[in-house]
Amino acid sequence: LKVQGALGIVTERGGTTSHGALLARAMGIPAVTGVEGFTDSVHTGDEAIVDGTTGVVILRPSARTVVRYRRRAEELAATRSRLDQLRDKPAKSKDGVTLTLLANVSLASEVRQAVLYGAEGIGLYRTEFPFIIREDFPTREEQVNIYRRAVSSFPEGPMNFRILDIGGDKHHPRISRPDETNPVLGYRSIRLILDHPKILKEQVQAFVLVGGERTIGILVPMVATVGELRKAKALIAEAIDDLDADSINRNPRIGAMIEVPAAVEIALELAREADFISIGSNDLIQFTLAADRENSRVAAFGDPYHPAILRMIRRTIVAAHDVGIPVGCCGEIGADPALAVLLTAMGIDNISLTPSAIPPVKEAIQDSNIETVRQRTGEILGLAEPDAIREVMHEIVYGR
Ligand code: PEP
Ligand code: MG
Repeated sequence: LKVQGALGIVTERGGTTSHGALLARAMGIPAVTGVEGFTDSVHTGDEAIVDGTTGVVILRPSARTVVRYRRRAEELAATRSRLDQLRDKPAKSKDGVTLTLLANVSLASEVRQAVLYGAEGIGLYRTEFPFIIREDFPTREEQVNIYRRAVSSFPEGPMNFRILDIGGDKHHPRISRPDETNPVLGYRSIRLILDHPKILKEQVQAFVLVGGERTIGILVPMVATVGELRKAKALIAEAIDDLDADSINRNPRIGAMIEVPAAVEIALELAREADFISIGSNDLIQFTLAADRENSRVAAFGDPYHPAILRMIRRTIVAAHDVGIPVGCCGEIGADPALAVLLTAMGIDNISLTPSAIPPVKEAIQDSNIETVRQRTGEILGLAEPDAIREVMHEIVYGR
């Protein structure tokens, strides 16, 4: 789509954190998901406005509407260029709290954006896409070539590759099972990959080879038990032992992703087995609030301001810090400036996000007094209604 010059994407299905939507964001194409009935209403040659910032699609707009949206697009471009000035500045609050901002990338081409928007490293490299766009699996050497761009573009800073997180809404005909009644709760992610040690082994070897002498991070997705993390660690160690190469760092940092509610409950035990923790709020929200991230009809139920989610994040941060390891967030929740401020006040060490969301989050941190928010965290998380939390945080961050 990008190559063919698509200017906007409208889908009838999906939500804002569907992997299709994440890919559109990665390519910088405005997208609106979950517009039921759209394909029945639209005809070849129709003009449409696709407003990815508000999720609005206007079919066959009037001349006045077009003028209004052109102005809005110019304003957005002006805001963008103002935010561009922040690229080399740290995300440091008024009272001196510094947040590390990292990038989520799924495509090698996205690495450029990560550099452009001032990311300090790669917090989450989603490795699935080169696998799901083809029938066979990319070889170890092909994988090395794909990941090389990220490593050379970010010679310093974290470089966290995630083990293949296939299944759910990302299928590979050879290994995942799209015929399951409920694939999101099905045979997927680490569950599936532990049964395919050869794939895991080649991936891990590719990560370590491309990393060379630097310390890379390996993220283990969708962990629900300590046993899974231990098994993944054993397979990772075995893969590295079997690697016949010089000048490589054989000690990657192992990160446990907290995406399943059970993992929050055992965060302390998981933290003891890991070198760092990364909170995957997209899945944590869908599992905790029983709101399928692919289903636009329940999108409103997957509210990141829900106190259950924020309290779970706080518990996870406390658990990681109790054992002295860093904790980051790599779900879309961190791309909301007001929530990024709240997460920082809760003590998160880094946020990894879509590259284009880095500047607004950075600006919000720079304009904040984190200690003041920290003092109010108990009160804010004590609120029962998501809207009440949203109101307070918007008041603090945007003054309204
Ligand atoms: C998440 O679930 O928040 C996450 C970062 O992983 P993904 O969006 O790829 O499922
Ligand atoms: Mg996830």
